[in-house]
Amino acid sequence: MTAAAPAACPTFSFELFPPRDAAAEAALVGSALPALVAAGPEFISVTYGASGSTRGVSLDVLRRLLATPVKPMAHLTCVGSSYAEASRLIREFLDAGVTSFLALRGDPPAGVPEEEIFLGDLGSAGELVQLIHRVQKERVPFRQVELPGLPGAKRIASGEKVTIAVAAFPNGHPRSRSRAQDLDTLLAKEAAGANLAITQLFFEADEFHAFVADARAAGVTMRILPGIMPMLSVPRLRRILELTGEREPTALLRALEASDDPFSVGVDHAIRLGRALLDGGAPGLHLYTFNRHEAPLAVLDGAGLLPLTTPTGKTS
Ligand code: FAD
Repeated sequence: MTAAAPAACPTFSFELFPPRDAAAEAALVGSALPALVAAGPEFISVTYGASGSTRGVSLDVLRRLLATPVKPMAHLTCVGSSYAEASRLIREFLDAGVTSFLALRGDPPAGVPEEEIFLGDLGSAGELVQLIHRVQKERVPFRQVELPGLPGAKRIASGEKVTIAVAAFPNGHPRSRSRAQDLDTLLAKEAAGANLAITQLFFEADEFHAFVADARAAGVTMRILPGIMPMLSVPRLRRILELTGEREPTALLRALEASDDPFSVGVDHAIRLGRALLDGGAPGLHLYTFNRHEAPLAVLDGAGLLPLTTPTGKTS
């Protein structure tokens, strides 16, 4: 009888967005980015404005990350893009040295009915996953690989391996009609070649665990990383609820409203959530950072995921 393989160490990773102006860029480059990189995440992802609105700035942040030991992950959206435009974009990111992507459909511009605009040649994130694989294979020169045990036999292999992550929605996508539709969508993304899922934020660990159990039962095998966003103020929480359509977390909202230290309330809530996720078997935590390092690092510290000495100066 062979011993069961030990469970892999939980990972952690971060999400950044492209800075909106010179001051925001200076804060990111001078403070948040070095602190987040020094924590040693598995990867740092950089968001991408739907319809390509942040292409250049997203690429700038990714290039900065490429100069560090941390692997950058580029979010890409396909809504509103022709097939040729999406292929060009993927090639541009691959040429820059990015080999990790979060493939998204993206939302149509706010307030415009979907039937009134060109939504692009690619109808779903799954089609973008397939396109990334195709472009990458075409781009990398194929090479012949000897097959072990079969002298003379060769197969064609391409050199690089790309990671392609996709979005998952534990509480359902706002447009989804049913849990089954969300699970089918995720399954289709894996069938298209995705090898990692990152979830939309949520507020209760059970929501994630139940979703993962359903996804496994439906046949999803890829790693599913829970996305956590520390809620540090009432306005931020309200704005996020508006954007994501998530259910209002009543107890957290009340605690934030009643406190004169909402930062600590938000961090403590995220620490409890992170611990419950890891205790329940989550493979790691993906932190939405809002381009700041203080709260995400405090959450990781509290959840026991940081190495001995952290950029916060604390020792765990
Ligand atoms: P898909 O996988 O194609 O669809 C997901 C679900 O959406 C389906 O189950 C379906 O129910 C529903 N759906 C989608 N389109 C329709 C439709 N036309 N009619 C009916 N139902 C539909 N957005 C950005 O612009 N930039 C980012 O960088 C970004 N990063 C994200 C990171 C994460 C981790 C997550 C969870 C979301 C992110 N988003 C980002 C938001 C994302 O683009 C939207 O949630 C979008 O609506 C769905 O994208 P998808 O890739 O999941 O689409």
